[in-house]
Amino acid sequence: MYYDLHTHTDWSDGTLDPAALVALAAAAGVRVLAVTDHDTVAGLEEAGQAARRLGIDLVPGVEISATWQGLTVHVVGLGIDPAHSGLVAGLAELQEARLVRARRIVAAFKGAGLGDATAVLERAGIVSRVHLADWLVATGHARDHAAAFRRFLARGSVGYTAAQWLALEDAVAVIGAAGGRAVLAHPTRYRLSGGRLKQLVDRFAESGGAALEVVTAGLDVGETGRLARLAARYGLQASVGSDFHKPLPWRLGPGGLPDLPADCTPVWTQWPIRSTVLM
Ligand code: AMP
Ligand code: MN
Ligand code: MN
Ligand code: MN
Repeated sequence: MYYDLHTHTDWSDGTLDPAALVALAAAAGVRVLAVTDHDTVAGLEEAGQAARRLGIDLVPGVEISATWQGLTVHVVGLGIDPAHSGLVAGLAELQEARLVRARRIVAAFKGAGLGDATAVLERAGIVSRVHLADWLVATGHARDHAAAFRRFLARGSVGYTAAQWLALEDAVAVIGAAGGRAVLAHPTRYRLSGGRLKQLVDRFAESGGAALEVVTAGLDVGETGRLARLAARYGLQASVGSDFHKPLPWRLGPGGLPDLPADCTPVWTQWPIRSTVLM
C-alpha cells in the first residue's frame, strides 16, 4: 500500500517518536504518509524532516476529537496548515479539555484508593486515556490496556468522565479553514446501527466533510465494501489509514493495508501537486 493517511506518534498516544514512525512507514513501503495525532500537530515538523531525508511525502494531519449527538467521533484532517490560527485555537481548547478530564480521572482514581497518577498529567504531548491505562498497568491495577479500559476508564467505570470536545460541525469547519480535507475516521468503530451511521455520515457530509475512511485496520472485505457504498451514496471520497499506534504483531504496521475498492474516489484525487500540499 502506497498511502497511509492515519498514524500516531508519541506526541499523542502512539509509542514511536515522529522520526521512528516515518522510518518504519518508509521501510514498509509507504510513499505518502499522513501523521495524524489526536488533537495536536506538535510532531509534524520532525516528521516532515524525517520524510524529506527518506524521500517520502509527509501529509500534515491531525485527528480531532469531536462530539455528535453525545457520542465521541474522530475527524482526521489531511493537508492542514498546522500554523493556521483557527486550528491552533481549536487544538488548544481540546488539549485543555483533555487536561480537565485527566485531572478528574486522577482524582477519581485517588478517591477509589488506586493511588496517585498525577505524574501522567505532566507529559510533553497530549494526555490521553491511554496514558492513564499505561499507569494502571504499571501499578499493577490492570493486566493490559484492554482490562484497564474495561475496568477503570470505560463509560460506567470509576474513571469515566465525558470530555468537552468540539462539535462535529466545528471540527470539520476548522479543518477546512486550515486548508485541509476532513475524513470521518474508522466509521465502524462507533458501534452504530446502520441507520444511525447513515445519520452521522449525512451530517458529516452536510458539514463539509470530504471523505470516509474506507480502508482501516481490522475490517474485512464485506465491511470495506459497505463503507465504499456508503461513501458513494453521500458523495464522499475514500481514505486509507492504518491508525497505527505501536509496532505490535497483532496490529498492522504502517502500510500493511489492502487497497481501496476500485470504484472509490480516493481522497488524494483532487490534491494539488504534491509539493504545495505537503510540508
Ligand atoms: P482518548 O482520546 O484520550 O479518550 O483515548 C482514546 C484512545 O484510546 C483511542 O484513540 C485508542 O487509541 C485508545 N483506546 C480506546 N479504547 C481502547 C481499549 N479498549 N483498549 C485499548 N486502547 C483503547
Ligand atoms: Mn489513539
Ligand atoms: Mn480514532
Ligand atoms: Mn487514530
